Amino acid sequence: MKDKNFAGNSESAIDFLGKKWNYECMGCAISNGDIKIPGGIIYEGKHTLLGADPIIPIPGFLIVNVKRHVNSFSQLDKEERYEIVNVISYAEKALKELHITEEVTLVQEERSKHLHVWIFPNYKWMTEKFGKGIKYLRDISEYAKKNVNENNIKEILNTIEKIRKYFEEQAFGDTYQKL
Ligand SMILES: [Zn+2]
Repeated sequence: MKDKNFAGNSESAIDFLGKKWNYECMGCAISNGDIKIPGGIIYEGKHTLLGADPIIPIPGFLIVNVKRHVNSFSQLDKEERYEIVNVISYAEKALKELHITEEVTLVQEERSKHLHVWIFPNYKWMTEKFGKGIKYLRDISEYAKKNVNENNIKEILNTIEKIRKYFEEQAFGDTYQKL
């Protein structure tokens, strides 16, 4: 993919804790542990990783990253498909059952060179300030980055812990086989 300006294809980024990362492919760097995302990995399966979006500081904004370097659901094999859908389902269940949000938006763009799915939570302030719907996600993300403060960071890290606990207790146990 040649869309260099697109965040999914950038070669460096500053995470929401202020740490700068360089990489050839962000998805691969997260998969092989070269990037330590803020709050750490929430769940690691055989083929996928679940964590908080490293760049945009919104509590409960999650990313499911496929470990293999592919950029489309059409390139996944059966086992990978099975796992990614399960991880998304349980992540959504966690967000709802833990009362983090009542509604999410899923985004996956094939122009990003490495397949990842955004699980974007909806909050009242987003609807009030920007409106509802996929076209506002960029503005909401920019706003969250510009207005981040210590309390937001604490809330994000707490939310990550809660979701991690949910995955340990409710969804997956200790191994991916329990999917
Ligand atoms: Zn990659």
